[in-house]
Amino acid sequence: MTQRQLMLSALTLLLGVWGFLPEFTITMLNYIGLYALVAVGLVMLTGVGGMTSFGQAAFVGLGAYATSWFCTAPAAASLVGLAPDSVGLPWIGLVLGLVSSATVAWLLGSVTLRLSGHYLPLGTIAWGLSLYFLFGNLEFLGGHTGLAGVPVLWVGTFALHSVRQLGLLTWTVLLLTLWALHNLLDSREGRAIRSLKTGRVMAESMGVNTARYRIKVFVLAALLASLSGWMYAHLQRFVNPTPFNLNIGIEYLFMVVVGGAGHLWGAVLGAALITLMKQYLQDILPSLLGSSGNFEVIVFGLLMLLVLQRFPEGLWPSLARLVNRYLRPKQLTSTAVVRGLVERKLPETGTVVLVAREVSKRFGGLLANNKIDLHVRAGEIHALIGPNGAGKSTFFNLISGVDDPSTGLVSLLGRDMRGQSSRAFAAGGLSRTFQHVRLLGPRSVLDNVALGAHLRGHSGWIASMLCLDRVEEAALMSEARRQIERCGLGPQMRETAASLALGQQRIVEIARALTGQPSVLLLDEPVAGLPHMEKQALARLLTQLRDEGMAILVVEHDMEFVMNIADRITVLEFGQVIAHGAPAEVQVNPKVLAAYLGGADES
Ligand code: ADP
Ligand code: MG
Repeated sequence: MTQRQLMLSALTLLLGVWGFLPEFTITMLNYIGLYALVAVGLVMLTGVGGMTSFGQAAFVGLGAYATSWFCTAPAAASLVGLAPDSVGLPWIGLVLGLVSSATVAWLLGSVTLRLSGHYLPLGTIAWGLSLYFLFGNLEFLGGHTGLAGVPVLWVGTFALHSVRQLGLLTWTVLLLTLWALHNLLDSREGRAIRSLKTGRVMAESMGVNTARYRIKVFVLAALLASLSGWMYAHLQRFVNPTPFNLNIGIEYLFMVVVGGAGHLWGAVLGAALITLMKQYLQDILPSLLGSSGNFEVIVFGLLMLLVLQRFPEGLWPSLARLVNRYLRPKQLTSTAVVRGLVERKLPETGTVVLVAREVSKRFGGLLANNKIDLHVRAGEIHALIGPNGAGKSTFFNLISGVDDPSTGLVSLLGRDMRGQSSRAFAAGGLSRTFQHVRLLGPRSVLDNVALGAHLRGHSGWIASMLCLDRVEEAALMSEARRQIERCGLGPQMRETAASLALGQQRIVEIARALTGQPSVLLLDEPVAGLPHMEKQALARLLTQLRDEGMAILVVEHDMEFVMNIADRITVLEFGQVIAHGAPAEVQVNPKVLAAYLGGADES
């Protein structure tokens, strides 16, 4: 049995017995579905995107109140020209809830997400608290008593009167959401989203607009919460502020953490466990202890500690591992077509592609780069060498947009790049690797490398969710595979990046840079930690790329490697260029010899 078959059988079974399950079970299932919908948004936000929100309950509230108010306020119906009992009102209420949630999320996100650190969590706490009090204090929302008389939801000609009927809608929405989000995560856009948690600097260098992605994920999570609130309101048929307070916001986070923050199905598992546990503890504890009180909160807290201590990644990964042991693994399809990708034409050999003119960088009192002049031509390997601390990596950051020069000019293919982000450099045809490797450790080599081709595809979120990006995705994957094989990492393609030796991780970075089809390639210490044979293989690859017309600038300490491959060498010391020329000239330059003989920390 495969994973998909197991899932389909479970769903068919559930659908088959839906009409016969006891009312109580159906009610529980319905709540689990509603909570899971919120939690799954939070998985995207927190587990995948690395942003914590305590305020999801407030978005649920916004969705619930929007529809409740719209359906019950007499003025609202006449505003849109509908009768006060029209079955269309809840649907307008839904749109109202979604639009207001998206607007709030976008505003909240644009204020807090650009700041680093704890601003977002704090912002969501403030939002959660204030919305709760706002609901309770607004006259037209019924104050703390809330709004009653929320109408039944009609889907076409079906009225969803009972939990049994509404539950079907809840679970259909939840399952469709899970399907869409699975597709999204398994796409070019998903790779970009997965880089938000730990790899933002790297992702920007691959052309990902991380600020925009963060806001979009935040809005997505808010929309799902709002959708859940809408169904909740039409299930309960009344709303008051209590289910939307900060405590419940924290509970949603618990669900996600217990279930497994990085896994979509973890949200369902977490929602199920916490809903059931709360229910049973509330029933059992008072009779067990002989007195009433909120004992469940204490037991709940202790159980939570236990779970997190034993399963720091949440319960889902362990459960999935257990089940997967009995399932047939998914067949890997491999297609060899590269079609529909953005192709870049390399500039003609000899063209000056990258220019740095009098580039300086000051860190406080330290002048790390002092008026560096350098240019790189297409079809040339240019090496930048110098003792440790000479300023080479700093210079790389300046000419790739990761950092801005204090003074001086950088131009890429004739374009002035002053004030441009690393994204713009990537779009201009520059790819780079990092001295301290920046890979997504838990992801496969293939996934990491495919991120490098981000700018070569254009399918958006909706297309990815609906699987309309499959041709492009196959092309991106096949391009990533091609570059991995070219770099000699074919056998490691499916392994996680973190499981590779450091030297191999550097090669993964090179493959990732190559999938961007760069005109200029910047490599920061590519052979550090590589065995001799692999160094030679890399030298062959770089020479081949040069012969194809790529411009390569490489920082390297391994002199044998540098002298072997470089057409020209620039030597830095204390942030200044002390020599420049062909390898044979530089090798005998007295200043260089002095710098290297003086630099005791050189290898
Ligand atoms: P290299 O790559 O040639 O070994 P670096 O460019 O990493 O040298 O560093 C050059 C100098 O700039 C070093 O003295 C280093 O400590 C300093 N430096 C680098 N980055 C920063 C930073 N972000 N803030 C302050 N000093 C820095
Ligand atoms: Mg360095």
